[in-house]
Amino acid sequence: MKRLLAAWCFLVVFSSVQVHAQTGLELVCSEVVAGEGVTAVRPLSDFFPGLRGTPFDTPVFVMGDGARGTEGAEAPPCAAIVAGTHANEIAGVLASYWIIERCRVPEGRLVVVPRVNASGATWSLQDASGPRFLELGSRTIRYGTRLSNPAQERLADPGSFVPPQASGNFPALAGQEARNLNRQYPGRQDGNRTAQTAYALTLMLQAEEVRIALDLHEASMTSSLVWSMITRPEHLDAAALAALDIEDETGVSFHLEDSRDEFAGYSHWEWGKLGISAFLVETPNPAQPTDDPTIEQLHNAAAPLAKRVYVHLCAAKALIANAADLLQDAGALRIEGFPSSVEEVGRWLEGTL
Ligand SMILES: [Zn+2]
Repeated sequence: MKRLLAAWCFLVVFSSVQVHAQTGLELVCSEVVAGEGVTAVRPLSDFFPGLRGTPFDTPVFVMGDGARGTEGAEAPPCAAIVAGTHANEIAGVLASYWIIERCRVPEGRLVVVPRVNASGATWSLQDASGPRFLELGSRTIRYGTRLSNPAQERLADPGSFVPPQASGNFPALAGQEARNLNRQYPGRQDGNRTAQTAYALTLMLQAEEVRIALDLHEASMTSSLVWSMITRPEHLDAAALAALDIEDETGVSFHLEDSRDEFAGYSHWEWGKLGISAFLVETPNPAQPTDDPTIEQLHNAAAPLAKRVYVHLCAAKALIANAADLLQDAGALRIEGFPSSVEEVGRWLEGTL
């Protein structure tokens, strides 16, 4: 299977090179290698072909029961882990890479989209024409920015931007926020590429019958969002139970915030409208908000990268387990292979595990 998936990555990279200098498929496949738990890899453009051949197309890693769509078969419960919405929030991206490389899903089904806004990973605040690279032992990853790359958009930024399903009195945002994927849900078929990516992801969540979805983020150390989970009121019970589990395992106390209609366009609000138990998780990134390249990530004293990745993984494990328990009609969903300590994640990041 590993060899087949490596061949798939080669094929999508090769074919994408024919169409475009670089698609998100090539970008992601250069950073992560699918492990034994991955049963299929699909481009997001399978769900909305308008993204095909563009830097916004990105891989969806399917883990567990690959039989989705078989006629007459009961659908296994499915969860989704989405990261890279903001391409400078690297702990979530790396947590999803851990899952793709090292986890298995013996019961149920999991889809992982590690860089949902691949375009954001193609440029940086320091270099508008290219990404920054972060060396982590044997691994090199891109440190991008919060917004899609304007050079890769199909439409110029509007003068101001209002999320697609915002209410009439919603205050307009700056025009560049049209390139913030986490303001564009549920997306628009005829919008800019960022809106089309949101649209494709929404179609993917529906096609995969996702019941639980996580969106992994980071915030600056002084932000009130640090160590927080945001979800609609009806899912706060699951978040509260998960917060207890996370504190037991990591010593970190998460605070909870309820999603509401002022969060129009955000994942936790709009995915929730689809009946999905949706959670946004925030860890601190000491380099934000300026993405200061002189800030050490791996061994940062205040917020070492391994701890942030570990906490994201513990949050994913706890949120999925507690949300699945609270879903009345859900079958079993079991994910194995989460790390048992920060040190284990540190060795993985440095390539010595
Ligand atoms: Zn974010």
